[in-house]
Amino acid sequence: MRYVSTRGTAPELPFHEAMLTGLARDGGLYVPAEVPTLSADEIRDLAGQPYEEIAFRVMRPFLGDSFTDEEFREDIAAAYAGFAHPARAPLKQLAPNQFLAELFHGPTLAFKDFAMQIIGRLFQRELTRRGNRITIVGATSGDTGSAAIEAFRGLDAVDVFILYPHGRVSEVQRRQMTTPVEDNVHALAVHGHFDDCQARLKDMFNDFSFRDEVGLAGVNSINWGRVLAQVVYYFSAATTLGAPDRKVSFCVPTGNFGDIFAGQIAKRMGLPIDKLVVATNQNDILHRCLSTGEYRTSQVHPSISPSMDIQVSSNFERALFDAYDRDGNAVAQLMDELKSSGGFTVSQGALEALRETYASGRVSEDETSAEIAFSLKDNGELLCPHTAIGVKIARDMADPSVPTVTLATAHPAKFPAAVEAATGEHPPLPPHMETLYERPERVTEIANDLATLETHIRESRRT
Ligand SMILES: *Cc1c(COP(=O)(O)O)cnc(C)c1O
Repeated sequence: MRYVSTRGTAPELPFHEAMLTGLARDGGLYVPAEVPTLSADEIRDLAGQPYEEIAFRVMRPFLGDSFTDEEFREDIAAAYAGFAHPARAPLKQLAPNQFLAELFHGPTLAFKDFAMQIIGRLFQRELTRRGNRITIVGATSGDTGSAAIEAFRGLDAVDVFILYPHGRVSEVQRRQMTTPVEDNVHALAVHGHFDDCQARLKDMFNDFSFRDEVGLAGVNSINWGRVLAQVVYYFSAATTLGAPDRKVSFCVPTGNFGDIFAGQIAKRMGLPIDKLVVATNQNDILHRCLSTGEYRTSQVHPSISPSMDIQVSSNFERALFDAYDRDGNAVAQLMDELKSSGGFTVSQGALEALRETYASGRVSEDETSAEIAFSLKDNGELLCPHTAIGVKIARDMADPSVPTVTLATAHPAKFPAAVEAATGEHPPLPPHMETLYERPERVTEIANDLATLETHIRESRRT
């Protein structure tokens, strides 16, 4: 199994190299050269299997020779053992043909744990084999950072630096990043937006001397390993609802397009997904793009669903690569245009290809709060703001003949202020996080400047 870059010129890599590398050296993102498929019988056989078994069968074909079956099974078992629900990603019915997949039972209460917990173990396995050290730098709108820290804290061969936008993450999110005591964990509060954090991270990857000097590795959602791990719950949810003999749609609260792109992979593997619905907040570049073909960045407007406050949606590049029939040159041109003029126009053919897979919707701030309140009253479900956006769009767009699963991307207790403002109820933290507000914080405030960030990382990493 080989991986190719969406911009067509970086070297092809096997799975473990693509995972350790993160961003390709031509600035593109790694995708499998060919997507393996599962037969209808193989998909049918997944129904009722433990989550770990589904994870093994869905991901294994993508790994090639990078890890043995035994190694991989061991890491999957360890990755999900700490989840607080035996089903790992339980389904809950909200209304006729409306379902929620609860993806927040991992250690940091957001879906990011599904991928981070497994790739943390695969990273460690590969680094031990090589005797290498690496520096992981991640940019986060809140949840990736805590999930990465949880997965990598205390590892000898790894330093983790997390860039988050200063003052723009929830207090729970911030404390999850600033309270771990391990000295390989470094939280950096950047003076800027999430898009600035993500842009500086990309700049670091494109500074090859820095990249090689510190052994830079990325675990942002551009990391193929993360996308792959997220494919699994599409299979577990859809087979529970009758796939492959029944079509299923998914509605996905979307920011960087990693979670929903995993759905596109599931579909290409043979899962009968009817529509993948991109749910956005007021930062609706993806909804506008799918509606008009114009991908045009503007200001980020901070919202009560901060994990979706984004203008440059990195993984969309992977969807564009397929929509442009895997023409790396065409994608590189679009990305150059984005950099030089702040946007691009998707060709008519590519837009039609995107619309075959994706639909989209947008929810305002007021509607988000109203939906959180409505859900509590209607069926007793306390939703996080991101999930509320998904649930509303799923209901508004529902095709009554097709079950729709909304991905519940975070636990409501991660966003207590927004939930309390909408409902008057304060969602309690689960027991393992009860002391979060008492632990001392450790964080460095830092300028949104490449040289300053690189110097800080050089000097603070352990060698
Ligand atoms: C990360 C995140 C999202 C967005 O996921 P993408 O893969 O970036 O599209 C949505 N909701 C929550 C709670 C998140 O943590």
